[in-house]
Amino acid sequence: MLVRMNYKYEMFPNEEQMQLLDSWLSICRQQYNSALLDKQRFYQKNQMGLSRTQLQKQQKADKQKIPFLKTMPSQPLQEVFFRLERAYKNFFEGRARYPKLKKHKDYNSLTFTQFGIENRHVKNKTTGEVKRRDVRYAASLDESNHLLISKLGAVYVNFHRPLEGKVKQVIIKRQGHRWFAIFSVERHVNETVEFPVQSTGIDVGIQKFAVLSDGTTIENPKFLLKVERKLKRAQKKLSRMKKSSNNWKKQRQNVQQLHIKVANQRRDFLHKLSYRLSKTYKFVFVEDLMIRNMVKNRHLAKSIHDAGWGAFGNMLDYKCNNNGGKLVSIKPHYTSQDCSGCKARVRKSLSVRTHVCKSCGTILDRDHNAAINIEAAGLALFDLSPTA
Ligand SMILES: [Zn+2]
Repeated sequence: MLVRMNYKYEMFPNEEQMQLLDSWLSICRQQYNSALLDKQRFYQKNQMGLSRTQLQKQQKADKQKIPFLKTMPSQPLQEVFFRLERAYKNFFEGRARYPKLKKHKDYNSLTFTQFGIENRHVKNKTTGEVKRRDVRYAASLDESNHLLISKLGAVYVNFHRPLEGKVKQVIIKRQGHRWFAIFSVERHVNETVEFPVQSTGIDVGIQKFAVLSDGTTIENPKFLLKVERKLKRAQKKLSRMKKSSNNWKKQRQNVQQLHIKVANQRRDFLHKLSYRLSKTYKFVFVEDLMIRNMVKNRHLAKSIHDAGWGAFGNMLDYKCNNNGGKLVSIKPHYTSQDCSGCKARVRKSLSVRTHVCKSCGTILDRDHNAAINIEAAGLALFDLSPTA
């Protein structure tokens, strides 16, 4: 079976390259925003949409007049319109709100939709002769495994784990002051993997990290909470010290060390857990938009972030793929309200932690009930429900 999966690595552009990448991001953002406005204006005037191809054609024409559009490779520049198309599609299909103008912090990645060197038929522009030859795309790896980007040069990438499979595209992403290369690869996985259990549903916990549909509870790791408390104290101490004094410098280093420790321990926990789940279940079902909806709720925000659900989802996704299984997000549809026993709707606020069904007598932990519903929804999606 051929699967698509992502590998993320930190990359280290030099000062000049960073400035260039920053400027490319703002060009893309500006293209995105003006295309969004163009689409709106066009619709108001003509009662019809402006298509991606029309936008791409317009950009091609603009390139002749606006020289800075030529300072960056054209692939990520064209890809901007795919993003806009996707944003509209998500809106029309009820998965997202109406697309907004993007602020600086919201536009932080460039997508190179082709990668590497490929032997292709190429037409000679003057003679019209068609010949096969190797074509190097705007993004590729050079002989020393640096990421080679046209108009930018070679950038060192820390390949902390091997990149396996055929690279189909690469995304360059800015996160704070750091830069990452995310390679999307296609690779074959063993189809004859045996899984102990066919499927599970996972509900994100609040006090707990997660609950599985078989009732297994995964607690938030205590050691993490402990280091985090320690970190908070160290930060407080630092803030009371005289800035730039020797003690301040020492304490600052202390704080940085603790930060690294927290991040490492959290990552370690998530890696182990996602590994275990990916080896046990062929299908892992989770709720779509789970994180977005919960982060909106201020009381829940902290525990969600602490638990690192976003990072967890990514790890689980590639580990499941890697092992021949699959992570599937399903649309949240009253998963915490409906009774997993008889499907009756039992309305309850977030503070009600137990599901009690008056129709069939089911009494379950709220999250456990939700996890069962998530699994059932996933199985229905794949038509895998056990036949009665
Ligand atoms: Zn019931």
